[in-house]
Amino acid sequence: MSAPSLLTPVLGDLYALQVPIPYPMGFVTVLLDAPRGGPVTMIDTALDTPEAQAAIEAGLAALGLHWPDIDRVVITHHHPDHYGLAGVVEERSGAAVFMLDVEIGRGERYWHLWEEWLPGHIKHLRDHGLPPETLATLEADSRRTRERVQPAGRVQPLREGQEVTLSGRPWEVLWLPGHADGHLGLWSEQDSVLIAGDAILPRISPNVGLYAYTRPDPLGDYLQTLGKLEALNPARAVVGHHGPLMTGVQARARELRAHHHERLDFMAAQAASAPRTAYDLSLAMFPRDLNISGRRFALAETLAHLEHLRLLGQLYRTWQEDQGAWVYHA
Ligand SMILES: [Zn+2]
Ligand SMILES: [Zn+2]
Repeated sequence: MSAPSLLTPVLGDLYALQVPIPYPMGFVTVLLDAPRGGPVTMIDTALDTPEAQAAIEAGLAALGLHWPDIDRVVITHHHPDHYGLAGVVEERSGAAVFMLDVEIGRGERYWHLWEEWLPGHIKHLRDHGLPPETLATLEADSRRTRERVQPAGRVQPLREGQEVTLSGRPWEVLWLPGHADGHLGLWSEQDSVLIAGDAILPRISPNVGLYAYTRPDPLGDYLQTLGKLEALNPARAVVGHHGPLMTGVQARARELRAHHHERLDFMAAQAASAPRTAYDLSLAMFPRDLNISGRRFALAETLAHLEHLRLLGQLYRTWQEDQGAWVYHA
């Protein structure tokens, strides 16, 4: 079959589909692999919206497929724009759903337990200075997102180093933490192609945030992931947004590392010159106008930098009873 135009050929029978999402990035990449004789694999699923479902249906139809033909779903990480339709695909196809073992324990569980975890999530942000008016909408925003996520009934673990066959080739399962604790990558050494999800993106710096339920040093994790990507030096990567394909991963990894080092230096200097909460420091790191959810991302990203410095022994934090928040200082 010649490549249908809404599908971007990656290699062999593997195609990338751009699926609309109601976020600033506009689209998320969903991959479809339909080799003769099967199995049919979908990688990432998009958020559960009618537009996303229609786009995926059109992509499947272009390959002569329907929902029930999907045998396997592999999800790069638990974020709603990648995981949202997991339960729907599982229900319509009976497909086996796979994620990295690390991601199942926290990220994936988050969607099943979010109501129970919400108070901890709110307390974490409040303890770092997020003002009450920004906290107030958190619950409603989280609920709206949760409604567009249909968790899978059963998710099976993939482990780092394991092999997955796509398009008749072996792909190695990689652990690329930072943007999400258990972010998975798939690496075809023979073709020098990486399925990267959001571990690296061409136009924006993937958000690296510290939340109540994440590993303690997501930025440290991410700096190691960038080192891994630099060493891997793939010729091409399939990326979650602003793709579906990018080249120059090695140079981009170096650029992102330099960007985070610059931010670390800036944060260390800011906290040393005037001790402040992570929220107040996030206003210095992200001075531009952001909406309420943008301010929460900015706080989580600032915190990832501050905690990285604290774990290195370069900054300290002290609980300020009068402010009811942690203050970072040299
Ligand atoms: Zn993501
Ligand atoms: Zn994403």
